[in-house]
This record gives sequence, structure tokens and C-alpha cells, in this order.
Amino acid sequence: MGYLTQLGAIATALLASATPSSASSAELTAAKNVICACRKLSNLLPKDIIYPGSANYTQEATNDFWDIRTALSPSCIVVPRSADEVATAIEAISSCHAPFAVRGGGHMNIVGSNNINNGVLIGLTNLNQVKVNADTVEVGPALTWYDVYSALEPYGRVAIGGRLKTIGVPGLTLIGGYHYFNNKYGFAMDNVDSYDVVLGNGTQVTATRSSHPDLFWALKGGGGNNFGVVTKFVLKTYPVPQVSTTIQAFNESAVPGFLAAVCEAAKLNSADPIAAGMVATVSYNVSTQVTSASLLGVQEGVSNPPDQFANFSRISTFALNNVTNMKDWAFQFDTPKQGFRIQFAHRTIKADAAVLTSLYESWKKSLSEVIDVEGLGPTFVANVISPTSVRVGNNNGVGNIWGLPEEPLIIWQFSTSWSLARDDKRMQNWAKTTVERLHRENRRKGIASEYVYMGDAGDWQDAFAGVPKANVARLKRIQAAYDRDRVFSRLSTGGFKF
Ligand SMILES: Cc1cc2nc3c(=O)[nH]c(=O)nc-3n(C[C@H](O)[C@H](O)[C@H](O)COP(=O)(O)OP(=O)(O)OC[C@H]3O[C@@H](n4cnc5c(N)ncnc54)[C@H](O)[C@@H]3O)c2cc1C
Repeated sequence: MGYLTQLGAIATALLASATPSSASSAELTAAKNVICACRKLSNLLPKDIIYPGSANYTQEATNDFWDIRTALSPSCIVVPRSADEVATAIEAISSCHAPFAVRGGGHMNIVGSNNINNGVLIGLTNLNQVKVNADTVEVGPALTWYDVYSALEPYGRVAIGGRLKTIGVPGLTLIGGYHYFNNKYGFAMDNVDSYDVVLGNGTQVTATRSSHPDLFWALKGGGGNNFGVVTKFVLKTYPVPQVSTTIQAFNESAVPGFLAAVCEAAKLNSADPIAAGMVATVSYNVSTQVTSASLLGVQEGVSNPPDQFANFSRISTFALNNVTNMKDWAFQFDTPKQGFRIQFAHRTIKADAAVLTSLYESWKKSLSEVIDVEGLGPTFVANVISPTSVRVGNNNGVGNIWGLPEEPLIIWQFSTSWSLARDDKRMQNWAKTTVERLHRENRRKGIASEYVYMGDAGDWQDAFAGVPKANVARLKRIQAAYDRDRVFSRLSTGGFKF
């Protein structure tokens, strides 16, 4: 009955924060609804409920989030152990009309997308099942991509997921998914055979190509937290026992050549591509005021050095090539949680080396506006969309919500870290103003694409702006059909909604 004491403390805190003098009646109602939900959850799932002050509270509310800013203070946290318990939790929360958030791997750095103040957090920590089949793998939403690559490694197979170690499976898969092998196998979303979903009314459905096909399509890029809670993904796997890898470094003078090589990779349009892709980053050293670039490249098979990166190898000052497997490669690139405050912001262009270089130069110049910010860590990142990667979704009979044309595109992104909360607003404003100004110029030049990737977007960006209008209308119809009570649009309001 210890929870009753905690519930009392929550009630006092919530109602105090929403006293009639300081709060609207809507806030008072929300506070009462949260108390209702936490109380119901305590009764229905007593082993799964966590309150402030409990042993796991800090882990679930803070430590499990990547960006420092996304650590918030939920009134209670529920950590279901099965899909049935997720259904019980959703029913309890929705019957009380309580605001809630859902966290998978906790990497999305948009405040409120995966955590909540004065509401209920559903932490998916315990849904960590993994089962390897002949050519698929069944995974729970608690898993990281390293967990998935580790499970598949003994079978010599890979799934199409995150490029670094600890990114969560669910968020990345529901928003699209950039992997090294997109150019051959499509995006992570194109590689999901089935989703087990708990809907807003607590019903459980399995969405596949033939069962709930509309929902199946909508989950391919429609974002987390818009249709239901996914409790299991069945992912396609491919026989790739070994990968050839390269880590390369480039001087400032080689950055234009580096960006030109990135653009060439985007132009891949072969009928039978070799799976190969990269993380391409330009960093700015605040002390020396000098830039340098780095490449993390991965190619299927045993070509050593990996020949798909020849354009980079010609101009790099350092290269470390290896033949390994996806698990051991990913292991090296941890992205520790609660390490940074980081603003993402990006836009997209048609692959054009001169324009990409001028964007990099403008980024470098604009850093003078924030150079005094404590702990500044600026990077300029380029991600590639080749015609071959788009074609996979276009040709598989399902598609995805992006509806992209088969043309070479580059996502150019500012990823900027800093130390102190006092600079949060300033860094957000700088990123927003600069990126949107450059995007307007690209529009005038006729080289801009309106495509926005939810995983790399800033808080202000409309992640559905580049989605064809017909697809947005279809998403809305599907949401209305599957979430009649608008549980995910009315009670879970953080993150990217359409
Ligand atoms: C360091 C770093 C590296 C990255 N690298 C890549 C990369 O290589 N490729 C790439 O494509 N992206 C990458 N991203 C972006 C990444 O895909 C997103 O941050 C993604 O949201 C991470 O998934 P998650 O499960 O950790 O997210 P979370 O923050 O847990 O969730 C993201 C959103 O999905 C919702 N959600 C989570 N689980 C579920 C579920 N089971 N059902 C319904 N909704 C759910 C949440 O409510 C939230 O709105 C990277 C991000 C970071 C910070």
C-alpha cells in the first residue's frame, strides 16, 4: 500500500501546481485525470507502477533519455511486461482522460515527444523479447539496434535499423530509418513485415500487408505515438555475415571534395546495387576555428578497402579499413544518454555538390553568432537518399508515407550541442533562423525539397510538410478509423502530429 502514500503526494503536488488562482480549469481537470490514471494503474498493474522517489524513477524518467532536455517529471510511470499489460495501461489512462507519453529507446530529442511533466509515462523497458526466424526477427520495443544485430550475428544475418549502437528500435522504425544499406534494401520502415499494435481503446491488432493494410502502411513513416503503441515488430533480415568498414578523416581543405563524394553516393541508380552507406559529418573545432570531416562507411561483403568509398579514400588523410560484422561495428559507436543538450535542424536539397558546399560554408560563417556559448559543439551532417533506396518502397506493393520521387537528395543537418540550460532558447533560435533562411534561398534556386526527416528535425519543423497531401489525408482517415476516441491525438500531444 506504499503507493497510496505516493499517490497522496502526487495529488497534493498536482493540485498545488494547478490551484484555481494560478491555473485554468482545464489544468485542474488534467491534474485530476492524472491522479485517476495513476490510481487505476496502481490497482491494475501494481508491479509495474513507479512513482517519484521509487528506486527506478530516475532511471525511467531521466537516465533512459538521450538529450538532457528530454528528462521530465511524470507523475507516475507504468512499465508493462506484456502487450496485454500495455492494453490494460492504455485503457486505464484513456478512461481517465489523462495526458500521457510513450518512450521506446528515448533518443528523440524533442522535449515532450517521449516524456511528460505532470502526466503518465509509459516506459517500454520490459518489452525486450527477441526471436530469430529463418528470414525475419521478432523484436520488442525495448531493444536497441545493437541488441538486434547481436541476436542476428550468430546466424550471419542483418536487419535494416540504426547506424549507431544504442538507438531504439521503435522510434527509428516508425519514423523511417536510415541505415548503411538503404541503397539496396530501402529504409527500416520498408523492412517491417508486421506490427503488433495496442490501439487507443485497448484493442490489440496485428497489421500486415493483408491484415489491417491501411494501418500497416500508415506505420511506415507515420511516426511514433500517432496510431497506437507497437508492442512487437517483425523485421526482414538479410544474409550479410561480414561487412567491410572504413573510418576516414579529412582536412578542412578536403571538405568540398568530401561533400562532393556524398552527393555522388546519393546519385546511385544501379539496378543491382551493392549495399553501402555512411555517416558523413563535418565538425568545427571551437578552439582552433578549423573544420574537419569524418566518414563512417559500411559495405556488405569482404572488399577491403570497401570499394564503394573510393571517392572518399582518394582525398582522406587517414583511413582505417576492416572486415567485421554488423554487431561488432555498431558496438564501437555508443551514444550515451543524458550526455548532451543537442539541437537538430535540417532541410533537404537535390544532390548538388556546389550548393551543399555553400551550405557548409554558410553554416561555418553563422557559427560566429553563437561562438561564445559554453560547451559549443557544432557539426554539419549530410544524409543521403538515392533513387535506389526510394525504389524499394515504391516497388514492394505497399509503399510508405513519404511518397518520395526517385531522385538523389541530400539532407543537410545542423547538429549542435552546448552545456547550459540558459542557452536552450538561443541555440534553438539560431538553428531555426539559419536553417530556414538557407532553405528559403534553396527554394529560390529551385533546388530545395520539402522533405523533412522526423528523426533529425527541430522542434518547430513540420515533419509532414514534404509528405504528399493525399498521403496526409489518408493518414488522417486511418487515424480517425483506428483511434476513434482520439486517444493518441488528444491525450498524447507531444512530438510530431499531423
Ligand atoms: C545519437 C543519435 C543517432 C541517430 N542515428 C540515427 C540513424 O542512424 N538512423 C535514423 O534513421 N535515425 C537516427 N537517429 C534518429 C532516431 O531514429 C530517432 O531519435 C528515433 O526516435 C529513435 O528511436 P527511439 O525508440 O530511441 O525513440 P523514442 O524517443 O523512444 O521515441 C520516438 C517517438 O516514437 C514514439 N514511440 C516510441 N516507441 C513507440 C512504440 N513502441 N509505439 C508507438 N510509439 C512509440 C515515442 O512516443 C516518440 O514520440 C539518431 C538519433 C540520435 C539521437
